[in-house]
Amino acid sequence: MTTETPDLSNRVALVTGASRGIGYQIAKHMAAAGAHVIAVARTVGGLEDLDDEIKAAGGQATLVPLDLTDMDGIDRLGGAINDRWGKLDILVANAGVLGVISPIGHVEAKVFDKVMAVNVTGTWRLIRSVDPLLRKSDAGRAIVLSSGAAHSARAFWGPYAASKAAVETLVRSWSDETRNMPLRVNNVDPGATRTAMRAQAVPGENPDTLPTPAEVARKILPLASPALRETGMLFQVRQDRFVSYRDPK
Ligand code: NDP
Repeated sequence: MTTETPDLSNRVALVTGASRGIGYQIAKHMAAAGAHVIAVARTVGGLEDLDDEIKAAGGQATLVPLDLTDMDGIDRLGGAINDRWGKLDILVANAGVLGVISPIGHVEAKVFDKVMAVNVTGTWRLIRSVDPLLRKSDAGRAIVLSSGAAHSARAFWGPYAASKAAVETLVRSWSDETRNMPLRVNNVDPGATRTAMRAQAVPGENPDTLPTPAEVARKILPLASPALRETGMLFQVRQDRFVSYRDPK
């Protein structure tokens, strides 16, 4: 894969979790590369900050305040994108929640359910909503944010780790269903990144030791390139490499 910033002119990109953190920076960098960004999150203030930055740099964005546990809302989003553009070129399924860092036996049911609702069911429903639109693109690209927790036995991270393992597996199935199409579908492990989620997970850590969301976003951007060949892989940002699931080590 080339590491150059791709030209995303005339591409329509849907980015979830765009109100802060990694998603905010992916949206900003994709707009700077020429894409029309559809930015999804619940926090309107964060989306407006993003919009201001994108517009100031001459880019284009459409803001969609949406809770990804609102399944009807997700279904309507696919319809609205179809009505306006008739296709979707890039999906970045980035929104996620950590839940709690806790022994499994102490996790409250409502917290577990919320992690699964956002990270797994919301992501599946979004994929279902836009899959036909990505297939209509001449070079559809799907980038789904996972985590190293999906692959490691990490005490106290149970619900989050299970949700990321579930979504990775879902995405691998999807990539196999679309293997003979122009659509390319990959998971991404961004690695520990200086965001609110990381601070919640590891509060004692010095954030200055971590890569910024902007640094991580720049490394993820080439996965949206029309020239990308890889599909059904895991891209590890920290190691700057794709790994195959047949040989994940
Ligand atoms: P942040 O907590 O900083 O941002 C999460 C984003 O998800 C926010 O924009 C938030 O928007 C959105 N979101 C959360 N819940 C919902 C919801 N119900 N509906 C719509 N949007 C929602 O997280 P990061 O930027 O750190 O993480 C981004 C992705 O990267 C996540 O999938 C995470 O699991 C993954 N990741 C992060 C790592 C890290 O070290 N930071 C490491 C490994 C993986 P809002 O609250 O406005 O709705």
